[in-house]
Amino acid sequence: MSVGLHRYVSGRLRWYTPIAIEPSQTQSSPIRAAVGRNYIPPEMLRLGMSGDSHTAESVTLARLPSGVELTTTVHTYRGAGDGPTLYVQAAQHGREINGTETLRRFHERLSLRSLSGTIIAVPVANPLTFDRVSYTTPEELDSVNPNMNRVWPGEADGSLHQRMAARLWEYVDRADAIVDLHTGSPDMLPHVVFREGDERSRELAAAFGTDLLLSEEAHDDASDEWHRRGFDGKLRVAAANEGIPSITPELAYNKQIVEDAVEIGVAGLLDVCRSLDMLPGDVSERDQTIARNHLGQVSAADSGLFRPRPSLEVGQFVPEGTELGTLYEPTTYEPLQAATTDRDGILYALTKEATVTGGDQLASIAMVREE
Ligand SMILES: [Zn+2]
Repeated sequence: MSVGLHRYVSGRLRWYTPIAIEPSQTQSSPIRAAVGRNYIPPEMLRLGMSGDSHTAESVTLARLPSGVELTTTVHTYRGAGDGPTLYVQAAQHGREINGTETLRRFHERLSLRSLSGTIIAVPVANPLTFDRVSYTTPEELDSVNPNMNRVWPGEADGSLHQRMAARLWEYVDRADAIVDLHTGSPDMLPHVVFREGDERSRELAAAFGTDLLLSEEAHDDASDEWHRRGFDGKLRVAAANEGIPSITPELAYNKQIVEDAVEIGVAGLLDVCRSLDMLPGDVSERDQTIARNHLGQVSAADSGLFRPRPSLEVGQFVPEGTELGTLYEPTTYEPLQAATTDRDGILYALTKEATVTGGDQLASIAMVREE
């Protein structure tokens, strides 16, 4: 049913000749995106005859100490009809590349002719962590906060991450809904996090369609740990503070492109668009579990090797006191910890990386709120 972008625009490309203009004049309009410092190759700029268009704009996020500019590509899809603006980004944490692959596949499947409104997509929100295949940025480049997802909405004259976030926030601020794509370890059940009590964000999460939805309390309602870990600087939280419905899908896997994870992501984005009336069709009814994000987790009491109980699988309900595995001292075989759950809930993450340091998370349990 969906007409691929490439097929739709074939034969209808309009070519722009680059002309010299001041960098300060380069903005995000389709024509300006093609000229000057932010020159975009013609094959990246596609305009339909009915006013719909796709542009790919090179945007400077910050300047590195060497003077090298840190840039990324911002895609703007304008539909044939009017409608809301959806902002989607991936790879704030650069090893979480299934979000990037999700956006590439979404680009291929999106029909501009069917689209009402505008989608802004940033496949690599943080090129620094992307190149390092890492979660955080080296302290040399941002000693204030090595985790980009703790600094939103950013500051134009702040630390490197704050500047990068502030530049992208210019797009976020104009949006009517936000999807911040993340991924976790292989041993994690795909889920979507939204802010507890935020009904429009809950609807967005439900539309994305994973079996498990996690509500997270914020600000005065949140735990000490939430505040200590700077969770109020997450993009999702900062956007929700501005009244913009926002979700964080957590797809499984890091570093590897995994088909199941990507397909969940693409289907989720298309259904989010349908739920916002940006694409035709209805979001199908689903049997989803809403649970509370349990920030306490089950963590390692000491350093050693952790052997998870082989019979455990993510997604299963575990009563309080369930044994999750054994931590032991690898040279003497001395048992150090019988890791158990301290409450009933759904096991949604269980570490398979056996070498752990005291304090590492071994498992994550979500408390069921409603079926
Ligand atoms: Zn992440």
